[in-house]
Amino acid sequence: MTKILIIEDEVELVKVLRSYLEQSGYQVLDAQRGNEGLLLWEQHKPALVILDLNLPGMDGLDVARHIRRKDNTPILMLTARVEETDQIVGLEIGADDYVTKPFSPKVVLARVRALLRRLEYERTVAQIIRAADLEIDLSAYSVRRGDEEIELTPTEFNLLSVMASQPGRVFTRLQLLEAVQGVAYEGYERTIDAHIKNLRAKLEKDPKDPKYIQTVFGVGYRFARTTDA
Ligand code: CA
Repeated sequence: MTKILIIEDEVELVKVLRSYLEQSGYQVLDAQRGNEGLLLWEQHKPALVILDLNLPGMDGLDVARHIRRKDNTPILMLTARVEETDQIVGLEIGADDYVTKPFSPKVVLARVRALLRRLEYERTVAQIIRAADLEIDLSAYSVRRGDEEIELTPTEFNLLSVMASQPGRVFTRLQLLEAVQGVAYEGYERTIDAHIKNLRAKLEKDPKDPKYIQTVFGVGYRFARTTDA
């Protein structure tokens, strides 16, 4: 059974959503506090999370950030009308869709189905980037070079896949920061340098003479078009 986690502190709302979702054949878990929701997410790995923005314990944005740092579980945000700016932030931090309160449970159900269908589709299409002699499998979070598996942290993996998906394109540090964290704060761009350094240490035969990830001085980084040099 497909598991759906609802993190929402309005008990009546949870009740209504639960009954709609259960009637449609989903298994429903729920938490009223953000931190408890995150624990349930870690324990049960639901197929989708319905997440209220304003929560006691840990707010919805932080919950979404925590989830996004670890994987791509679809997140449907529930927001109140007054929270329009937060809606946008909600999408920037990696929520997949949002519904504004008050809403009809039918709308939520339709969005849930659409998100799960999209996920299913994304899983069935090949999610493999081939760049230089690397094979980057986005669904398995793995990087191979021939028979060799290269172990990366999630941040390193995301950095590599963003750059390798467009060889030759120069990315600024801010763009890379946004790509890996979902949000970019000016002043933190240099943290990217540390990740690049670690990535090169794992990837490059000679990290001092990188063939895959090139520094573009004064701008940022790019994945090499070819590694024959
Ligand atoms: Ca709330």
